[in-house]
Amino acid sequence: MGNSSSLHLQQEDVQAIQDETGFTPQQIERLYSRFSSLDKAGKSHLTREDFLRIPELAINPLGDRIVHAFFYESKNGEEDKVDFKDFVRVLAHFRPIKKNQEKNKLNTRMEKLHFAFRMYDIDGDDKISKEELLAVLTMMVGQNICPEQLLSIAERTIIEADTDRDNLISFEEFAKVLERTDVEQKMSIRFLS
Ligand code: CA
Ligand code: CA
Repeated sequence: MGNSSSLHLQQEDVQAIQDETGFTPQQIERLYSRFSSLDKAGKSHLTREDFLRIPELAINPLGDRIVHAFFYESKNGEEDKVDFKDFVRVLAHFRPIKKNQEKNKLNTRMEKLHFAFRMYDIDGDDKISKEELLAVLTMMVGQNICPEQLLSIAERTIIEADTDRDNLISFEEFAKVLERTDVEQKMSIRFLS
């Protein structure tokens, strides 16, 4: 409706995306308009440069890590391209959790924790090192805290989380630290509502 774009979503695609992510058809249509407007080349996929044009990501200290997550989640076999389904799949991690939605799994606590873990695991080896923690902390706080303090925060965090004493934080250790944190709330962004 009112969409002058020549690109249109197929009804079966909408259904498949709805089943996987829990977005409503109206939300999927709106996300598709957003996706199409970012897709400057009109090739039905987004590149890293396309993401860098999103103001919310440009000003987010973790923007670079979030953009990385879009490419990490990409399931279309091409590492440097994000198609519409990849795009929606990543955004689904930020959907607030509502009751009676067990069938839509992308926004469960475990999925959100995995998503957050991958933000820190820069080299993708499934462990968070002190250097990775420090790099992400630096992105988050910028110049507000001196490097020595940040280093001591990173070291203390590793010591507290690292129960098997390998100087790295595994996903299990990460999840344990966040056991009492309201991840569901913190990892929910109320967009499109
Ligand atoms: Ca790592
Ligand atoms: Ca460990």
